[in-house]
Amino acid sequence: MKLIFSLCLTVCLFHAGFSQHAQKFTLVISNVNIVDATTGKIARNRLLAISGDTIQAVDDTKMVAKYKADRYLDGQGKYAMPGLWDMHVHFRGGDSLIAANKALLPLFLANGITTVRECGGDMTSSVTQWRQQTASGELAGPRIFTSGPKLDGFGAVWAGSLPVETPDQISKALDSLQKLGSDFVKIYDSKISHDAYLEIIRQAKKRGMKVTGHMPFTVELTEAAGLGMDGSEHLYYVFKACSAKEDSITALIRLQEHTDHPIGLFGALPALYNTYDSAKAKRLFKYLAEKHFTITPTLFITKTLVEIKETDHTKDSMLAYIAPGIQETYQGRVRGARRQSAESTQFTKKYDALCASLVPQMFAAGVNIVAGSDCGASNSFVYPGTSLHGEVKLLVASGLTPAEGLRTATVNGAKFLGIGKFYGTLQPGKCSDLILLTSNPLEDINAIDQVNVVLANGKLYTRDDLNALLATVKIQH
Ligand SMILES: [Zn+2]
Repeated sequence: MKLIFSLCLTVCLFHAGFSQHAQKFTLVISNVNIVDATTGKIARNRLLAISGDTIQAVDDTKMVAKYKADRYLDGQGKYAMPGLWDMHVHFRGGDSLIAANKALLPLFLANGITTVRECGGDMTSSVTQWRQQTASGELAGPRIFTSGPKLDGFGAVWAGSLPVETPDQISKALDSLQKLGSDFVKIYDSKISHDAYLEIIRQAKKRGMKVTGHMPFTVELTEAAGLGMDGSEHLYYVFKACSAKEDSITALIRLQEHTDHPIGLFGALPALYNTYDSAKAKRLFKYLAEKHFTITPTLFITKTLVEIKETDHTKDSMLAYIAPGIQETYQGRVRGARRQSAESTQFTKKYDALCASLVPQMFAAGVNIVAGSDCGASNSFVYPGTSLHGEVKLLVASGLTPAEGLRTATVNGAKFLGIGKFYGTLQPGKCSDLILLTSNPLEDINAIDQVNVVLANGKLYTRDDLNALLATVKIQH
């Protein structure tokens, strides 16, 4: 990984007694307030000396004359913090939407998201190309970590998934993921069997690959975590494991799996809701924390979808940046919601509220919570960029402090990938991806909406630059 190599090189030079004062930096930001989400503190009136993708020095602004740079930026009144990470996005919708997906990349940058974790779609070769092009600076967009295709059973619902059942098929699928440089394995649960699911985890861990995903309800979360699974997407699976009757409900789901009337995920939710056990939840969270397990709650999409029937999205300003082809895919969920009875919408709201209340408990127990929006084609009105802000705000509304909320969208994402030491705070030797906000996000989390400057992969974007970038992807009507 290029980034890590250059960071290591920088740190080694420092240790060898290399003087930063003799050096000319690419950028010096002065007069800035630095937000430290790990301590919840602000360091005022600081300067940041940066070379490319690495922070070289942090000092008192009074010392600015000592720092020679190609470019100086006055950060007066601004709050600097690490660039945001969206840990759950998708690029998808078929070949005809490749250009429309590519045009979403600036939306992330314009909203301060400097890294995304792509959780599987159907345009892998384009995504791996964009990953390389954003890393080299050829394309304006966030750093991309990608799973490549999802693994699922035969007859999977999402196009582009790799179907697997036998150990040999799993081995070949993992070979192909490693060949394309997948950053982690994403498993989906539309058709995968219990045995194949666990076999994927066993084989992936043997290869040293990170594994996350959905989870069939035939599997228990602790089975998967016990085999070394690294994370779980959404809250369904952790919620199921909080039921006092998890064993018997899982047994019934297995029994009915191949009948004409299998109990689907949604069919099991009322029984799980009625048997939620807070003492079991507490034990589970402690166990997951010991396993360094990561959970991506995706509260924003959950809320957007449950409110879809009662919300008028036709005036959403972000629609100006979403190509008609992607907007068409939004109708699928709208139709699905219309088919839902008022009673079942009411239950979903109750269930969602209980799920959201697990977030601060998991965080306090030490589970690695990461912010992910689930934006992408088919995920209606969950817009790249703004939806991650929405996610962080909902995580805070669920009970996290603003500082904790910011950690879910910065260092915690890097922790999942095993590169946490290069991210999370603005300190010498760490990655220079950062944003300047116009007010203090530790006082009011809504400050993350006011992104004034973005430094991504060594490239500086002022608000004017970001607006100009947005203009290039605005849809002409
Ligand atoms: Zn997703």
